[in-house]
Amino acid sequence: MSDSAKPDSYDVLAVAPHPDDLEILCGGTLAKLVKQGYKVGIIDLTSGEPTPRGSLEIRAREAEKAREILNVPMRINLDLPNRILMDEPANRFKLATLFRRYRPQIVIGSAGRTPAASPDHHQGHLLIEAARFYSQLTKWDDQFEGTAPYRVPHLVYAPFPFEAEQRSWQGTFIIDISDTFEQKMQAIQTYESQFDLGRFEKVAHFIRCVNGATGARCGYMYGEQFALPTSVGSTDLFTLVNGSKSLLSANIQPGKDHLPMG
Ligand SMILES: [Zn+2]
Repeated sequence: MSDSAKPDSYDVLAVAPHPDDLEILCGGTLAKLVKQGYKVGIIDLTSGEPTPRGSLEIRAREAEKAREILNVPMRINLDLPNRILMDEPANRFKLATLFRRYRPQIVIGSAGRTPAASPDHHQGHLLIEAARFYSQLTKWDDQFEGTAPYRVPHLVYAPFPFEAEQRSWQGTFIIDISDTFEQKMQAIQTYESQFDLGRFEKVAHFIRCVNGATGARCGYMYGEQFALPTSVGSTDLFTLVNGSKSLLSANIQPGKDHLPMG
């Protein structure tokens, strides 16, 4: 956690095109980060409207309810146009302005191309990467409402599970969301305008299967997958592979207390 961070800065900002994207992709992880004490914010790039049964007011109300369920303290809607979202300079400036204002240590961005779903997803992926790069640029403050340059240290992808490409991401990892999975499902269920009861059951089944299969790869009941734009670096192979579990050479005696297990 960033004790030394400025009061208005965030540990994690999560960004995606539509309200409900982040809940589906990484709602369990966002709720877990909050539980772990990290300062988390959500940025929806668009309102998600128009849709057949939604309205601006309904979507905003649903998104707010989902935010409360996940206990995320801040949710901003950047109000870029839904359906025709584009990675273009003006939109990069707007998102980068938020990065410069809220100075996150980590940006989680939805990622991937979804040819059978909204093209906004692919454009959002490109836009998030570009805005992260723009955020650090000097001699351009007038494009970012006078905010100071800020370099976002880490970008983490939250890939769509129905992505077109089987990508060779540089580094992937899975977060155990067994303790926040039901919270995630409740947050998704708030979007009644998108998932009426019949549809929600199908969506819930799909998500349960995806998160179940993803988690099982690491021995968790439920997991969410993430990826990095670069390889994972570490100076300690043991800690990287073994997480924070204790070293045998530390104070824990074999046969006493609990043994660290792989
Ligand atoms: Zn979406």
